[in-house]
Amino acid sequence: MTGPHDDLTPDDWSFETAAVQTGIPRGLGETVGMPIHQAAAFQFATLEEAQSEFQLNGGFSYARIQNPTVRALEERLTALEGGAATVALATGQAATFTAILSVCRAGDHVVSTSSLFGGTAGLLNNILPLMGISATLTENTPEAIEAAMQPNTRLVWAETIGNPAGDVPDIARLAEIAHQHGALLGIDNTWGGVGYLCRPLEHGADIVTHSLTKWAGGHGAVLGGSVTVGTQHDLMRNPIYTDGGENSILMLRGDQALAWRQRWFGAHQLGMTLSPHSAFLIAQGLETLALRLTRESETALALAQWLEAHPQVGRVSYPGLPGSPHHTLAQKYLRGGFGAVLTFEVPDPAAFLPRLQVIRIAPNLGDTRTLVVHPWTTTHGRLPEASRRAAGVSAQTIRMSVGVERLEDLRRDLAWALGG
Ligand SMILES: *Cc1c(COP(=O)(O)O)cnc(C)c1O
Repeated sequence: MTGPHDDLTPDDWSFETAAVQTGIPRGLGETVGMPIHQAAAFQFATLEEAQSEFQLNGGFSYARIQNPTVRALEERLTALEGGAATVALATGQAATFTAILSVCRAGDHVVSTSSLFGGTAGLLNNILPLMGISATLTENTPEAIEAAMQPNTRLVWAETIGNPAGDVPDIARLAEIAHQHGALLGIDNTWGGVGYLCRPLEHGADIVTHSLTKWAGGHGAVLGGSVTVGTQHDLMRNPIYTDGGENSILMLRGDQALAWRQRWFGAHQLGMTLSPHSAFLIAQGLETLALRLTRESETALALAQWLEAHPQVGRVSYPGLPGSPHHTLAQKYLRGGFGAVLTFEVPDPAAFLPRLQVIRIAPNLGDTRTLVVHPWTTTHGRLPEASRRAAGVSAQTIRMSVGVERLEDLRRDLAWALGG
């Protein structure tokens, strides 16, 4: 028997199946894994074809705009997040910047939770104001977010699990608040594992971004980022999309308007394009993401419980701990685990860190290897002290991204470094 199932279409595929199957055609001579199209430009047969491609950018012309390997990765990311379209870019920073710029212009305003990746706080506090886009960073509660909304607020921003505080936003409530004020909700879902632990679009978010450098790539070998848009957003409320009248992007592009604008800005015009080789590595990483993140979440929970009971360790923060103030929301929005990152306080980070012999000191997340940093002096070091504290960082805090090593080896390494 050949032919399509009538009961299992690609739309029905589970995360694990979509992660290894999406983006690879079936058929005679097709590659089994994802091939790399290492090419800067693509051919046209006629003048008309070239002209039409330059007008519509629907296919392939020049690889700054689109490349078949990058497109295959984008299809896979769209399937995993349950979105309408994805634009893959060179880094997570490029994705955040593109997402914000696609809905805000000079005079507009962003409301964000303050427990943020340092680079996002930097964009909101330092870079976007140069373009006339202002931001209010506030506590991660619906009440604080609502109080910060202004008539010119176009975007509400939060992370699925705040970095590094481990706080979980009430995504559905934030979506309601944003939409009531004519704004969109953007969620940085890096810690949500590309839709494996959390799919913010299903809870009302309009835009999801990723640092694909983290769990998607998964092996600490590649940089990448992505912006995925959902199907539900109502762009007609945003003046950027309606000011142009009949010629506005919305009129021309319908429900693809937002994704089109993101590709236009991030890749086409600003050139923050993902390389095909990086797209290939990220697509490979996605194939084992569910296995890795399941294992890493189990290990992270066991280590969080063990650290909580350790006499040398101060506050342990992990949304999977029943005592965590974020546990209820984590149970509502996360499935398959509570993520691979925890923070804990040690009396003397400068003495603790160099004693580690399995765990490495490095500023990355989602690697197969367990990594630690001291956010106070590194990832969040450039923020004013009050902002560091608002992000959940103290001078004693260690942030740990748990890898796939055996639990017992990590526990013994931590015990040794803690002094017994
Ligand atoms: C790392 C990270 C980013 C930035 O991604 P890059 O790929 O380093 O540019 C953004 N958001 C979060 C939550 C991150 O962890």
